[in-house]
Amino acid sequence: MPSESVATIPGVGPKLSGLLERLNIRTKLDLILHLPFRYQDRTRTSPLRDVHSGAEHYVQGQIIDIDIVERPRPSVYVTISDEEGHRLNMRLLHYSRRQMSQLSEGMWLRLWGTVRLGRKGLEMVHPEYRAFKYEPDPPPPEYVPVYPATHGLSSARIRGLIQRSKGETSFLPDYKHFGSTLDESIRFLHEPDPSKGIAGLKSAEERIAFDELLAFNLLKQRRHLQQEKLQTLPLSTARTALADEFLSSLGFVLTSAQKRVVDEVLDDLGQTNPMLRLVQGDVGSGKTVVAALAIVRAAENDVQTAFMAPTELLAEQHHETLSEWLTPLGIQVGLLTGRLSAPSRRTRQKAVASGEDSVVVGTHALFQKSTQFKSLGLAIIDEQHRFGVHQRMLLRDKGRMPHQLIMTATPIPRTLAMYLYSDMDISKIDEMPPGRQEVETTVHSSNQRDAVISGVERELRKGHQAYWVCPSIDERDPTDGDFHGTMDVIKELGPKLPGVEIGHLHGRMAGDEKTRVMTDFRAGIVQLLVATTVVEVGIDVPNATLMVIDDSDRFGLAQLHQLRGRVGRGTQKSHCALLYDTPISETSRQRLNALKTCSDGFELAELDLQFRGAGEVFGTKQSGTENFRVADLALHRHLLDEARIVARSLMEENPELASEIIDTWTPSESDYAAV
Ligand code: ADP
Ligand code: MG
Repeated sequence: MPSESVATIPGVGPKLSGLLERLNIRTKLDLILHLPFRYQDRTRTSPLRDVHSGAEHYVQGQIIDIDIVERPRPSVYVTISDEEGHRLNMRLLHYSRRQMSQLSEGMWLRLWGTVRLGRKGLEMVHPEYRAFKYEPDPPPPEYVPVYPATHGLSSARIRGLIQRSKGETSFLPDYKHFGSTLDESIRFLHEPDPSKGIAGLKSAEERIAFDELLAFNLLKQRRHLQQEKLQTLPLSTARTALADEFLSSLGFVLTSAQKRVVDEVLDDLGQTNPMLRLVQGDVGSGKTVVAALAIVRAAENDVQTAFMAPTELLAEQHHETLSEWLTPLGIQVGLLTGRLSAPSRRTRQKAVASGEDSVVVGTHALFQKSTQFKSLGLAIIDEQHRFGVHQRMLLRDKGRMPHQLIMTATPIPRTLAMYLYSDMDISKIDEMPPGRQEVETTVHSSNQRDAVISGVERELRKGHQAYWVCPSIDERDPTDGDFHGTMDVIKELGPKLPGVEIGHLHGRMAGDEKTRVMTDFRAGIVQLLVATTVVEVGIDVPNATLMVIDDSDRFGLAQLHQLRGRVGRGTQKSHCALLYDTPISETSRQRLNALKTCSDGFELAELDLQFRGAGEVFGTKQSGTENFRVADLALHRHLLDEARIVARSLMEENPELASEIIDTWTPSESDYAAV
C-alpha cells in the first residue's frame, strides 16, 4: 500500500521513523519518492591540476607524505601527488591508530570530497577515501545518488534504506507511458545506469513527473464532474442596505480591483451552482474586505459563513477585524479555535448550532465533527495553500453545499493558474490600496554580513523589530551545500547583539509554542525573530521594519516577495536585506536584483518561472504555489498538455486505472493543496 507507514519496513524503529518524518517521509511511497537531488559523477577521476576550491572532486594519487600536526587543531595531513606532480592533502581531524597504520607513503589513494583551500594548500577534509597498495585500475563507472538528508540521517543511510526497500514498489500501477512504468523510472533514479548518461536520468525524472501531473489532472476532472452536478441555495441580491452601510463605515473606498472582484463574487453567490472561486491578491491588497462583503450577502440571506484561517493567530486577527466591521451591522462573529477551553468551545459551538453566530472564524477546529452549523451557506478559506483538499471536503459535508471562496496571496503566473485551477473561477485583485510604502530592498554578499548585522542593531535601537529568515533549522552542514540554519544564526547573532531579545520560530515547533513566540513578537517582547519560512504567511506586526533573508538565492522570487511582505505594514519606512554567500552565478545575482526594482508579485512569479524554465535551479524545492512532489511546473511545462489529454482519455477508457493512479499519488486526496 502506498500509504503504509515506513515503520512497517523491517529495521525502521521509532527513532529512524522520527528522523524520516523530518524529511516528510511517513509512508512507503514517501520513501521511494524521496529522490536524489543530485548525483556524484564517479565515472572518472579528474587530474589534480583541474581541482579547485569549493567544488566536489573525485581524484587519485600516490601518497608522498604523512604529516601529523598539533596546532591549531590536531590533524593528520596525507599528501598525494599525481604523475604531473600536482598535489592535494587529505586532512583528518580524528582518526584511529588502526586507520593510520593502513596508510603509508607510496600507497595510492582515491578520494571523493569537496576541495577547499587550507593552511597547507588545497585539501579535502574527511573525504570518502579508499587506499590501494598498487596503482588501481580505473574506477567502475558509477553515479552515486545524493539524497536530501537531515541531522542524524545521512544521505548514505537513506540510500541504504531505499536499497533495502526495493521490494516495496509492487503497489505502483502497472501503466506504461513514454516506454516505461512509474516503477521502472523510480528504480532507475535510485540506481542509475551510467551508460544511459544524464539523459537517462532526465527522462526517468520526466516519466515520474508525468505520472504525478496525470494524477493531478485525473483528480481535477473527477472533482469538476462532481462540482457541475451540485446544487445549492442561491444567495440572491441585496435585500437590505447592509452592504452600503458597511462600505460607508469603512473609512476608505474600495479600489477598482476590489470592486470588480466583489461584483464577481456576488454574482456567483446568486447562482444555484455553488461558487468555487479563487481570489488572488498580493499581500496587503485587501482581500479581507472582499470576504466581508460576501459575508454580508450571506447574512442577508440568513445563512452562516465559516471563515478559515491557517493558524490560530491569523484566525484571531480576522476575528478582531470582522467583529469590528460587522458587529455594528448586527452580524455576530464567533471565534472557534483549538486554544479555547472546553467550556467556551462548547458555548461557541452552541452559538453556531443555533445560528446565533452568523460568522465563525477558526482553524481546523471548525472541521471537527462536533461543530454543527444551523445553515452553512458560505465557506471562506484564507491562504488556501495551507489547507488540504481533504479539509475542504470535510467542510462541505457540514451544510447543503456551501459556496466557496478561497483567498490566496501566493502569486501564480497566469498561464499556470489556468492549469492549476481549471476547476475553479479566478479573480485577481491586481491593484494595491493607495499610499502603500514600498519595501526598500538591497542585496548583499557575505562580505557585508557584519554591516547587515550592524544595520539590524541600529533598527532595533530605534525601537523597531526585525525578522531574520533562514532556509532551514538545522545547523550548518558543510556536506550539504553549506547554507545557514536558524540555530547557527542564533548562535552567531547572540554575542553580536548583546541585550537583544531573540526569538526562534520554525516549523518543527509545537503549535502552541509557535503561537507563544509570535505573541511575544507581536507584543514587542521579542525584538528579533529568527525564523524559517513559516513567517511567510504570518502575522501582521507593523512595528517590524526590517527583514534579513539569509541565503536568499535559495528561494524563489515569489517566495522572497511574500516574505518581504511581512514588513512595510506600518507607517515606518521598511527595508529588506537579501544576503547571499559568495560565489553565486550571474543569473542568481540578476534574479535577486529583480527584487530591488520590482514589487509586483505576479510579475516576479512569471520571472521565476522563466528563470526556472531556463534550468536555473534553486537547491531547495520550492514551496508555495505547487505542492507537487516531483513535478515542477516550470521544468515540466512541456508535459502539461499531454498530461491533460491523456487524463481525459484514461478517465473514459479505463476509470479503474485512473483511480489507481490518483490513489497512488494522493492517498487521502490531501496532498494537493492546489485543487
Ligand atoms: P490581504 O489581502 O493581505 O489579506 P488585508 O485585507 O489584510 O490584505 O488588507 C490590508 C490592509 O489594507 C488592512 O488594514 C485593510 O483594512 C486595508 N485596506 C483594504 N482595502 C483598502 C482600501 N481600498 N483602501 C485603503 N486601505 C485598505
Ligand atoms: Mg489576508
